[in-house]
Amino acid sequence: MRADFELDIGRKTFASGLLLEVIAVLRRCRPGDLVALLGDDKSVGPELETWCRFTGNSLLDATAEQGRTRWVFRCGAVPVPAEDNRPVGSRLWLYTNFDCNLHCDYCCVRSSPTAQRRELGLARVQRITREAAELGIKEIFVTGGEPFLQEDIDEILISCAAAAPTTVLTNGMLFTGRRAESLRALPRDRIVLQISLDSATPELHDLHRGPGTWARTREGIQRARAHGFRVRLAATVSTDTEAEAFRQFLDEEKIAADDRVIRRIALRGSASDGVAVSRADLVPEVTITADGVYWHPVGAEDTDLLVTRDIFPLSECFAAVRRAFDREGEHANKLARIFNCA
Ligand code: SF4
Repeated sequence: MRADFELDIGRKTFASGLLLEVIAVLRRCRPGDLVALLGDDKSVGPELETWCRFTGNSLLDATAEQGRTRWVFRCGAVPVPAEDNRPVGSRLWLYTNFDCNLHCDYCCVRSSPTAQRRELGLARVQRITREAAELGIKEIFVTGGEPFLQEDIDEILISCAAAAPTTVLTNGMLFTGRRAESLRALPRDRIVLQISLDSATPELHDLHRGPGTWARTREGIQRARAHGFRVRLAATVSTDTEAEAFRQFLDEEKIAADDRVIRRIALRGSASDGVAVSRADLVPEVTITADGVYWHPVGAEDTDLLVTRDIFPLSECFAAVRRAFDREGEHANKLARIFNCA
């Protein structure tokens, strides 16, 4: 993980002067900057984690490098807006697959045309949605990879929509041919299409997502609307300036407030820059993939966000996420924020 400041602390610990060095570097930091400490004494790790928790910073990473350890922490809380807390278990995310027709340079789960599909599969989705309905789930979000690459996506989405109102995250580029047939089968009153569009003009969108993708996404948005779907537009941006420019575009297009999502690039997956988010920064939103149950969709293949490999029974998987959240609370965690993916 890259850092804004690199500090070689040698054998120093909190008992032998490390704190003074850390404070000195923090004085030069802006909120959100990442600080790396490279040291020879592993005992620094637990102390650094405790210090981070009590001081409102966040330990993000610890890696071994040639017999030494490199810790990375972020200065201050994640700069994302807080929202009302959603109860854990009211939202359910399903990663139907991990392959994608695109290869965006900031994809938080490293999807691409060559990524392995790692499919959740219709049978598992049907069991999940049946049990989720019994647990009183309020919203389902279906994402990937690109969900519309799957031939049985219509059956998957019908199963989700029967359990709860469902939003599908898509790049909107596959609504032709037999996939347009898949769209026709879906209940418009229970399914919303959240289509990724990063900018008002092609340059920025195409820079991250590939040449020509902006124009094809715009066509996809029109097709989805022509099929009678409610469409939300979701932008992933790097700066406040980009966010403001997109907001102006949405105003001009008269997009309703509920149909707008603007979020920052997260430093996860393929991204080489962005907002570094740790488990302590995120209010959990139960996220199920073929590989298990994760804390949040923004890191749905990262081991630090894996809660359990066991999906069933779903009641136990929800309980496991709640228990993990309670444990975070026991550490006086004050940092958790909603990181909006939808
Ligand atoms: S960001 Fe979305 S469209 Fe881009 S590679 Fe990842 S899953 Fe595919």
